[in-house]
Amino acid sequence: MGEKSEAFIISKEESGDSSFVVTFYCKFHGKIDLFVKSARISKKRFQGKLENGNIYNIEFVKAKKVGSLDSLIGIQIHEDNKFVEFDSDVNIYRSIILETIDKFEIDNQPNENVFNIFKYFNLNIYTKSKAKKIKIIIKSLNQYLKLLGIQPAIKRCYKCKKEMVNIKFFDLKNGGSVCSRCKSKDNSSIIVLKKMINNKKLANDVNQLEILLLLISRFCEYHSGKIFNSVKYLV
Ligand SMILES: [Zn+2]
Repeated sequence: MGEKSEAFIISKEESGDSSFVVTFYCKFHGKIDLFVKSARISKKRFQGKLENGNIYNIEFVKAKKVGSLDSLIGIQIHEDNKFVEFDSDVNIYRSIILETIDKFEIDNQPNENVFNIFKYFNLNIYTKSKAKKIKIIIKSLNQYLKLLGIQPAIKRCYKCKKEMVNIKFFDLKNGGSVCSRCKSKDNSSIIVLKKMINNKKLANDVNQLEILLLLISRFCEYHSGKIFNSVKYLV
């Protein structure tokens, strides 16, 4: 018998004609790569069960040879999933949170909070309101960045902590929203917004929420040192 865990899929890659290497995030094992032998052929076992929008119960066995991947031997959809229709916005937002987790996490370093952030995202993202969806992805990213110890300032200046009515400058390197007084002279990591974000109107304004999501996604890219594929779909 193998090891069992709740898990979600971060990414998957084909390996040979019919197999996959799937990167999972497991509640108790962290980020791991598992070999899924003959995934295309073993339809009963794996078909429709290797999608990145679900929480699963998985079972895997340790590799016999050093340096080989552990193998997935069982996968079942977790009862906590919601089954809903295709939603292109949800797909983009999900890609952003998954890519963020992928770029920051180190293999085999479990943190139950990471698992729970994705679970929160997945259980709450399916709503009709676009504003609400964007708020869910922003909240999920913020919680994750907080876990990493790099949560950006949004409604207050990162430096003087003054509450701001409008966000005009967003410093990717030094901590997020910044007022014109505290703004560093070195502009290289500062995004200057053409249209300011009004913090009082933000909650119900889809356009402004989209801009804020883009800023936070850019912040994730900056601090991971990597460009995300998913972020280009935001603009
Ligand atoms: Zn300030």
